[in-house]
Amino acid sequence: MSGLVVSGVLVALGFPLAQENVAEIEQVKANLYVITGGGGNTAALVADDGVVLVDTKNPGWGSAILDKVQTVTDKPITHIINTHTHGDHVGSNIDFSLPVEVVAHANTKSNMEKMEAFQSASGQRYLPSRTYDDRLTLLDGNDQIDLYHFGAGHTSGDTIVVFSGLGVAHTGDLFAWKGVPYIDVNNGGSGVQYPKTLLTAADSIPGVDMVIPGHSPVMTWDDFREFGEFNRDFLTSVERGKAAGKTAAETAASLDLPARYANYAMSRGTLTSAEDNATKIYAELDR
Ligand SMILES: [Zn+2]
Repeated sequence: MSGLVVSGVLVALGFPLAQENVAEIEQVKANLYVITGGGGNTAALVADDGVVLVDTKNPGWGSAILDKVQTVTDKPITHIINTHTHGDHVGSNIDFSLPVEVVAHANTKSNMEKMEAFQSASGQRYLPSRTYDDRLTLLDGNDQIDLYHFGAGHTSGDTIVVFSGLGVAHTGDLFAWKGVPYIDVNNGGSGVQYPKTLLTAADSIPGVDMVIPGHSPVMTWDDFREFGEFNRDFLTSVERGKAAGKTAAETAASLDLPARYANYAMSRGTLTSAEDNATKIYAELDR
């Protein structure tokens, strides 16, 4: 109650109210939903025994996620799968009631252990309690979820979460948008391995038709495969530029990519650009 009074005073004095975090929810297929806003896309599978979340957005978005989950079910959150270590995907792990099983790739657990949010005794309880290396199956029947890791890409610990009973995958930021990806070399990301990781996934994972990307509206598995091909062609073009003696900047300015990628963004704000990625690939090729 005192909070309301304080807010009232601030409003009276002309200060804006703190913006409340509000997410949006949309049904993807059957008992699977995507919750948008506040960072990376969150998926929510309403399984028999509870709700499985994939990713938890930026810090402070736990109650916004829970508010939307509770519009479709009153079951508790039983699992959180973190696709990778970034704060806009693991940031609100600590908001959820225990017990909750946190699942991630082993490398993502190692990366998360370095994050400020998971240093305290209470924060450590939200680190992954279950990890895997190549493949892990959770739940069964229509609720079956398969986690896949095919190598480095966006980070060293990217998981593709497949809702096998539904034919839907959440790709995290391994596939965040149609455009140059962010390669987090400090967390083990690799521009050289990235295309192979994507195309191996496209060739190996059966039965998926819909994709929840890390930061874009729902797309198709063909879009995911095309993104792998884009990264393959980008890498080939960069390797060619380097072999021809061009600088990374010159190479990035003269990429000869097929016309079918005309709708791919060559930069993403200040986060990344073709030149950033060419520079990272040059450095990797020189190692
Ligand atoms: Zn990320």
